[in-house]
Amino acid sequence: MKDSQGTSGLILNEPLLWEKGKPGRHGFSFPRRDVEINELNENLIGEGPDFPDLSEVDVVRHYTRLSQWNFGADTGMYPLGSCTMKYNPKTNEKQANLPGFAKAHPFLSSGLSQGVLKLMFDLKGFLSEITGMDAVTLQPAAGAHGEFAGMLLIHAFHKSKGMKRTKIIIPDTAHGTNPASASLCGFRSIPLKSNEDGILSPEAVSEIMDAETAGIMVTNPNTLGLFEDNIREVTDIVHKRGGLVYCDGANMNAVMGIVDMGEIGIDVLHLNLHKTFSTPHGGGGPGSGPVCVGKHLEPFLPIPRVVQTNGKYSLSEDFPDSIGKIHAFYGNVGVMIKAYSYILSMGPENLKKASQLAVLNANYIKEKLKKIFHLPHDKPCMHECVFSDKFQKNNKITTHDMVKRLMDYGFHPPTIYFPLVVNGAMMIEPTETESKEDIDFFIEALAAIADEAQNNPDRVRNAPQKCKVRRLDETAAARRPCLSG
Ligand SMILES: *Cc1c(COP(=O)(O)O)cnc(C)c1O
Repeated sequence: MKDSQGTSGLILNEPLLWEKGKPGRHGFSFPRRDVEINELNENLIGEGPDFPDLSEVDVVRHYTRLSQWNFGADTGMYPLGSCTMKYNPKTNEKQANLPGFAKAHPFLSSGLSQGVLKLMFDLKGFLSEITGMDAVTLQPAAGAHGEFAGMLLIHAFHKSKGMKRTKIIIPDTAHGTNPASASLCGFRSIPLKSNEDGILSPEAVSEIMDAETAGIMVTNPNTLGLFEDNIREVTDIVHKRGGLVYCDGANMNAVMGIVDMGEIGIDVLHLNLHKTFSTPHGGGGPGSGPVCVGKHLEPFLPIPRVVQTNGKYSLSEDFPDSIGKIHAFYGNVGVMIKAYSYILSMGPENLKKASQLAVLNANYIKEKLKKIFHLPHDKPCMHECVFSDKFQKNNKITTHDMVKRLMDYGFHPPTIYFPLVVNGAMMIEPTETESKEDIDFFIEALAAIADEAQNNPDRVRNAPQKCKVRRLDETAAARRPCLSG
């Protein structure tokens, strides 16, 4: 194959700032002091914190070098399954930085915040239209936070009907955060096996859906990258027995403008603005996990809510059945602005096209690689495909080895060992923003690694070779993190 795009060339070492500092250096000239030191101000100019003394160039080089050791969607293909690491257009950042938005403060009166309130109000409308749901809250700060809010909504709904339902059905193809969110809300998770095609069977749902079950939490498309073909039958069964259907919509990137979630029987759905709607994520930065609901759940949505009366926007807490507040102020507004910018700059047709291309790209990879890597479910996939290391295991090469080697070829590894239903899973989500050339290059890299696994296994076992650091002891890194270098 062509030369890899893996890290090579100048990768400079970089000490800690504390090792780099020299007493007396500074990057900023303070004006000469024009007050005498006296008892009152003496404490203010005491020892101060233990910060190193550094010049401006010391600091700029330090952080620039560290940034070059990083990898992001701006650096190269980042096929991390389930995470939708698409390229985020820079115009989104530009809009969020407009002074009227960047300097807005939540303590400003609504009279002085009409622009940002209108944006939030309109964004709710866009998300309703895209999902086919009736009402939206923008408050949750992440997907998992949206799930938690959704569980509170389901609980509030049953309570309002005088019912006590304590269990939630969770398929084995659901995202790991689903059972955690259900438990956090006090529900008991009831696991459900998917069928041999990797999707839910209505019979299996019917068997366990009883009068104590509050509902089901379905990830759709699921974590095998498959659409739940039987979703209508499943939602019918759950509804007939008095339950509600939660859909984890973090994988909406596969079905924007294509699937009407209300129509297929979803009662509550969360979205990840920081995945599908193109705002940067990873590294624990701000996110946004709006929750979309059907009419019957609208009274329970969190407060405050952005409302419109006579063309004026304001915040209202006048919703007596609300589950209350779940985030300071109104959530992460900066992320909402970026998502709004993305939706407007794409328009309805291009949002749909983005999903179609995301699905096409994943299917292309699946078809090209399915002879080389074991494909547990050989059928059309959605926005991601899941392989396993079954073939390479014969040469004692694991998924872990192969994705480390992928870093030498210049790609971020895919999601691995998830979903748990596939042994040695390699979950690849290319997204719509990769060009055919980059996808072909990625396919070539994985094919080359499969070849090495057979003919030169030590090269794979000892990967990565070209990265800044070699293999880390991941267990020790998690259990005994050394944060000081
Ligand atoms: C990412 C993801 C989540 C969790 O979203 P966070 O914003 O990380 O909390 C939930 N479900 C699915 C399917 C996801 O891909």
